[in-house]
Amino acid sequence: MTDINVAVIGAGVVGLAVARTLAQAGHSVVVLEAANAYGTGVSARNSEVIHAGLYYEPGSLKASLCLRGRELLYAYCQARAIAHHRCGKLLVATREEDRPKLAAIAARAAACGVDDLQFLSGDEARALEPALACVAALWSPSSGIVDSHGLMTQLLADAEAAGASLAVASPFAGARSEGRAWRLRSGGAEPFEMSTGWIVNCAGLGAQGAARLMEGFDAARIPPLHLAKGHYFSLAARAPFRHLVYPTPVDGGLGVHLTLDLGGQARFGPDVEWLPEGATPETLDYRVDAARQAGFEADIRRYWPGLPAGALQPDYSGVRPKLSGPGQPARDFHIAGPREHGCEGVVQLFGIESPGLTASLAIAEHVAAILPPP
Ligand SMILES: Cc1cc2nc3c(=O)[nH]c(=O)nc-3n(C[C@H](O)[C@H](O)[C@H](O)COP(=O)(O)OP(=O)(O)OC[C@H]3O[C@@H](n4cnc5c(N)ncnc54)[C@H](O)[C@@H]3O)c2cc1C
Repeated sequence: MTDINVAVIGAGVVGLAVARTLAQAGHSVVVLEAANAYGTGVSARNSEVIHAGLYYEPGSLKASLCLRGRELLYAYCQARAIAHHRCGKLLVATREEDRPKLAAIAARAAACGVDDLQFLSGDEARALEPALACVAALWSPSSGIVDSHGLMTQLLADAEAAGASLAVASPFAGARSEGRAWRLRSGGAEPFEMSTGWIVNCAGLGAQGAARLMEGFDAARIPPLHLAKGHYFSLAARAPFRHLVYPTPVDGGLGVHLTLDLGGQARFGPDVEWLPEGATPETLDYRVDAARQAGFEADIRRYWPGLPAGALQPDYSGVRPKLSGPGQPARDFHIAGPREHGCEGVVQLFGIESPGLTASLAIAEHVAAILPPP
């Protein structure tokens, strides 16, 4: 007998979605969160875009979980009155030489099952967004935005209604295997121990660190973490856009794009700043250096020449937990259970960068399928 069936490490959007799905399936679940509140990690520092699934390798987890997750997410937001807006997105080619990139993205998206993209001429794109400068665009009607905090609040409410509990200020401090169970220690001001059948590691930027604290888990199976910071600038004035606008992607990110919040306010970002090897999740500096403004203005004016001078102001930043470094090919989500890593009673989630918010409900389904029924 164990105290609980499942301990989930991390109360970001993924940990909360996993806790909800497992609790609703009948598992007894405790979520351990190091911070004083849920949803203060990567899930609080992103673009809040519901991705349609345009960018990912066919057959990858990112591709399948993004598509499935997006449908689950729209349905969940609708059913639970979570603020969201299926506003659509324009992916733009600003130079003739970018056209082939649009075609490549469309072909890859089609191979992943995205079947609603539409090629637009520059004029057709401008009919949707008159302030836009581009030679061609891809229109994605299934892209949207979501209130990520509202989503997490509802996920937690559902998880708790199904019997799960959340322990905040309770950093996972280690676990050792005891036959068919784990003895788990939580640190913080009020440390405790408990036995659990399963540990699901949803610690985001802290996932590698948490995995290293599991005695008996083969350290060679923990992929290296690469950190890529992304900064955002907000627009002081009202934006002349009603849809999301993305340039073609860059190494490590999707390019400085325009996202709208649910109040219609525009922000631009994130750029990509690879943090030096040796940077750790504990030493992150989330400040946004105003000196980046000139680079942002240059990027934005490629698709919005009318951006007024001095209209941007530093906003917030986020850090991507990546499994590939600068110049390396993008890596897939790494979600592994005992069949993959050989360690009983553990599911590890590494590299849950974008589109992790979109995919969260599908990731939860995927994790639930790894565990035996309660
Ligand atoms: C700049 C940026 C833009 C993005 N834009 C989008 C987007 O538009 N759309 C999209 O779909 N995705 C986007 N993403 C990705 C998305 O935000 C993440 O995939 C998602 O939020 C990850 O959620 P998580 O629960 O895995 O991580 P987190 O939200 O970071 O949650 C992990 C939690 O674990 C806790 N933790 C860490 N270590 C421990 C420990 N030892 N013990 C207990 N708790 C611990 C942390 O405090 C944290 O609360 C973006 C990401 C970034 C960085």
